[in-house]
Amino acid sequence: MSDPASPGAASAVAQPAAERLIGRIRQDLITRQRFLLTSHARPDGDSIGSQLAMAFALEALGKKVRIVNADRPPEHYSGFPGVDRIEIASDVPADAEADAVIVMECSDLSRTGVRGFEGRYIINIDHHGGNRMYGDVNWFDESAAACGEMVFDVIGALGVPLTREIATHIYLAILTDTGSFHHSNITPRTFDICRQTVEAGVNPAAMARRIFDSNSFGKLKLIGSLLDSMELLDEGRLAVLYLDDAMLESCGCTHNDTEGLINLPLTAREIQAVVFFRVDAGDAVRVSLRSKYDVDVRLVASAFGGGGHKNAAGFTVTGPLTQIRGAILDRLVAAVAQGLQTRPTA
Ligand code: AMP
Ligand code: MN
Repeated sequence: MSDPASPGAASAVAQPAAERLIGRIRQDLITRQRFLLTSHARPDGDSIGSQLAMAFALEALGKKVRIVNADRPPEHYSGFPGVDRIEIASDVPADAEADAVIVMECSDLSRTGVRGFEGRYIINIDHHGGNRMYGDVNWFDESAAACGEMVFDVIGALGVPLTREIATHIYLAILTDTGSFHHSNITPRTFDICRQTVEAGVNPAAMARRIFDSNSFGKLKLIGSLLDSMELLDEGRLAVLYLDDAMLESCGCTHNDTEGLINLPLTAREIQAVVFFRVDAGDAVRVSLRSKYDVDVRLVASAFGGGGHKNAAGFTVTGPLTQIRGAILDRLVAAVAQGLQTRPTA
């Protein structure tokens, strides 16, 4: 993590290493012909945007590209260019021959949720803290606000022009992964990349409407019942949300309608962190964490085997939530107290 008192110092040191790695990736992409692209299960805007920007750039160079993901993209991304070509599979398709696999947005290969990438030539491009360096080439940059920023650099190194399609996916990645420009890892470079995407034809107002104002009526009902049952702890500094299948069904929703719900409590001034418990298949509970400013929820997630970023992290609990819930909340209260000590002013 860079020192907030001297912004840019850490990236200035990291720069030559990044240039070397981008050069190595560029070489791999130029010399190889067939690529498999993948990202994490339950894809978000950054995983979809990073993969499709990369796919269009490689195809501009005449390469063969297939994209294989464990889960279907959320509905509101379906109209974006190329999203309908993402193949959904739990195993790499038998006929998927590739000279390299590009894994984006995954701190660990198992995060893809797709079996069969092991043993292939892997290019790992990621910005999540604690990346396991599982690739043959590993470019990991925690200072990137979105993996899409890193993909933008690779595309630049390849000399591929920023078409409107590519720019749309880079902007999608950045807009969503910064929590629509709320998170603390946004840098001048983030805006410089966005500026270039807008020059390439991206319409920020239309993107924001398509991504954030595309709720179904059912989702609005769900927001109501979720906030109605919200608990507040630590004198209102910590919000706890809980969702199970019964609540989803009563609003006519599916798990695909849950994206973004976790951010709602943060719109209250007092609330510094949110934990969202989502009962998943069987016994598993997905735990998502969000925070403001210096409240570091990644540290909390990593204590329970997960990861993410300072302001957005997550993990999965297998087994009864009751046993572990208290420990999660205690750590969150401690993280809030710690973060409030260094809260910056706007
Ligand atoms: P989510 O709450 O699922 O939207 O995840 C928030 C952030 O935490 C994203 O950047 C995820 O990639 C990351 N994250 C969530 N779950 C895990 C996990 N089990 N391991 C590593 N990172 C995770
Ligand atoms: Mn990301």
